[in-house]
Amino acid sequence: MIIPIRCFSCGKLIASSFKPYLELIEKGETAEDAFKKLGLERFCCRRMIISHVDLIDDLLRFPRLQ
Ligand SMILES: [Zn+2]
Repeated sequence: MIIPIRCFSCGKLIASSFKPYLELIEKGETAEDAFKKLGLERFCCRRMIISHVDLIDDLLRFPRLQ
């Protein structure tokens, strides 16, 4: 859905790093270098970014069930 604002484990703010991470990956950087540039050192924060699937745009095409 939407990227969580904070890391579930340590509470670090991660939502602001998601788009820059995708941009760095598109430019051809490795995930390791992208995480270092964004200041995400802990693996709990890295898994939040890596495991996120952005589904919100796909789900918004369907009407709400009432
Ligand atoms: Zn964390």
